[in-house]
Amino acid sequence: MSQSINLLGQSRSSLERFFEDLGEKKFRAKQLLQWIYHHNGRDFSQITVFSKALRDHLSSVATLETPKVLETHRSHDGTVRWLLQSSLEDAVEAVLIPDGKRSTLCISSQAGCALDCSFCATGKQGFNGNLTTSDIVGQTYLVKNWLREHQPDRSLTNVVFMGMGEPLLNFQSTVDASSLFMDDDAFGLSKRRVTISTAGVVPMIEALIGQSEASLAVSLHAANDSLRDELVPLNKKHPLEELLAACKNYLTSLEGRRSVTFEYTLIQDVNDQDRHAKELIAFTRRIRSKVNLIPFNPFPRSGYKRPSIDRIKYFQSLLLNNGVVATLRMTRGDDINAACGQLVGNVKDRTRRKLRHERDYWESIATDISNLT
Ligand code: SAH
Repeated sequence: MSQSINLLGQSRSSLERFFEDLGEKKFRAKQLLQWIYHHNGRDFSQITVFSKALRDHLSSVATLETPKVLETHRSHDGTVRWLLQSSLEDAVEAVLIPDGKRSTLCISSQAGCALDCSFCATGKQGFNGNLTTSDIVGQTYLVKNWLREHQPDRSLTNVVFMGMGEPLLNFQSTVDASSLFMDDDAFGLSKRRVTISTAGVVPMIEALIGQSEASLAVSLHAANDSLRDELVPLNKKHPLEELLAACKNYLTSLEGRRSVTFEYTLIQDVNDQDRHAKELIAFTRRIRSKVNLIPFNPFPRSGYKRPSIDRIKYFQSLLLNNGVVATLRMTRGDDINAACGQLVGNVKDRTRRKLRHERDYWESIATDISNLT
């Protein structure tokens, strides 16, 4: 028996091909998208705009499958974190952050992460592979329906690729999923409210040109190359000047006055000093941008600390006083480990990085102990 095809998350163009291969007209794709995403249809036998033969065919070859929910955690501040099973059978995370009228969903693009940013817990888990477009769209579909059931007065307003993984290293699925998020026949979100966040995969930022109209966020964390090399090792391959040029090119390709968001995780004594603010101001002046400050979220054995709230506010004031639009992302959901950089899921690590990090840690403890004795 041939394997059934999961139509949840298929792009418009692949649905069009699917129907054309069946000898149907392309516009069936539009009808199916609306049926899935607007009418929350589940059972193909009920798509009355299709012929009985087409309905029967779909029922026999296709499915609509969302990732399986393994765990749901609700924070006292309203944040909800889901642990979901991907098609590779890794556990990945999605986090819903309600804030006033806004409801932002933070989704994962990969099982683990192949980059190893020094301050990020996801990276320490290693990497097992890309999520499929269905896995990515499935997270959003599932949460949209969860809201419909549990908080009918709220609807999903923003989707950000800031969960586990580097979305631009899962390029096509990220582009296809974000197109569905912005497609009026599917999720219908505004282009400004769908954000792809990257550690700075320069060639893939360039590749977004003409392929995507989503907003771009770049995890900057340092505005000088030597410090950024340490925090975001990818910087050694694609240093700041290259990154800036790619961001400018992408913004130029978009209609309207759009800006790039620079995420800046504040880490005590590492990148929170006056000179760092000065560098950041000079850097961000060179492009239409905003800065989103994220106080470092600690996790076991990270070796880093969050600056005091006074230092964080002071750093923000340095930016604001110099005309930089700088927001402070207050930590949400930390009681359920849902804060930035704390998403770890449970992935089969193909890189053995997790083992290596653990071994390094125990070796350093052993050295400490032998120094004591
Ligand atoms: N790979 C993508 C998206 C995932 S990370 C990227 O790098 O942008 C989402 C954001 O959380 C990034 O800005 C990341 O640098 C930040 N982050 C990671 N670990 C963190 C931590 N421990 N505390 C605060 N922010 C963190």
